[in-house]
Amino acid sequence: MVMLESEITPVDSTVETLKIQLLCVTAVMLLLGGALALVIARKIAGPLTAINESAKELARGDYSIRFAEEGTREVSELAHTLNYAAEELSKVEGLRRELLANVSHDLRTPLTMIRGYSEVMRDLPGENTPENVQTIIDETERLTELVNDLLDLSRLEAGVVALDKTTFNLTESIRAILKRYDKLADYSFPFYADGDVTVTADELKISQVVYNLVNNAITYAGEDKVISLRQTVEGGKVRVSVSDTGEGIPADKLRDIWERYYKVDKEHKRAQVGTGLGLSIVKNILDMHGGAYGVESTLGQGSTFWFELPLAQSEEKV
Ligand code: ADP
Repeated sequence: MVMLESEITPVDSTVETLKIQLLCVTAVMLLLGGALALVIARKIAGPLTAINESAKELARGDYSIRFAEEGTREVSELAHTLNYAAEELSKVEGLRRELLANVSHDLRTPLTMIRGYSEVMRDLPGENTPENVQTIIDETERLTELVNDLLDLSRLEAGVVALDKTTFNLTESIRAILKRYDKLADYSFPFYADGDVTVTADELKISQVVYNLVNNAITYAGEDKVISLRQTVEGGKVRVSVSDTGEGIPADKLRDIWERYYKVDKEHKRAQVGTGLGLSIVKNILDMHGGAYGVESTLGQGSTFWFELPLAQSEEKV
């Protein structure tokens, strides 16, 4: 019996020690676990709460809000993306306001003129002259041009217009367009082409591109009133360029002119002529065709606008 008791005692004390050790380890682990949870919560939940607050501000329409890019990599990446989204949203909002201001201004000016002239003609017997009627017709035409441009552009930008592609003779098409300018006797339109080419594209839309470029060249033509067109073929592509010898465009504005409603010289009398939408339409049509386009210009010497289209398949093989 004595021997048995002396054997049990060391086991008991070991169990006791182990129990205490287990308790200590558990307590330490719990403490560490708690501390770790706190740190993680601070690092992840903290920035996420801040992002949530900022997102609410953004939803309320405050586009100037910025998300703090801190915390774990994923969270700071999320904040970065949201910052980008907020910036883009604020750009769209700016554009929307500008568009609205421009449209209402551009619509109001001709309408005021039409109303003014009509009232004068109604009230003053001697004012019922052909000149006054012509002013009303001119202003109506300007309104029509503006509304048409706006509709064209918004349809192009919304992506609801499908291209009606056919294979046609581009050179012939340009000649036909230039023929329509014959009545502008003061201007000359030399056309240099190294042979007829065919392309597969939407003929009507490409004609609109050429019209817009030629119309701009006429508006900003130099004193010689020469608008020259060139058609060259290189590497399976045809390049059409329209040049004038007018005032040119400052180098720092060459990128902006493709934006809608952008006019280089807003104060200039001639800026009243266009709608500021012509080149945006050109850009959209060529983007839809996947064609390259651009402009080279020297101040005081003139501008050359160009675009490229791939040649029709059958042409390429020749
Ligand atoms: P607009 O209807 O005003 O001509 P566009 O979009 O066609 O609008 O052109 C935008 C601006 O680019 C014009 O207002 C003008 O300042 C400039 N621009 C376009 N074509 C020419 C050109 N051939 N020569 C000089 N400036 C030009």
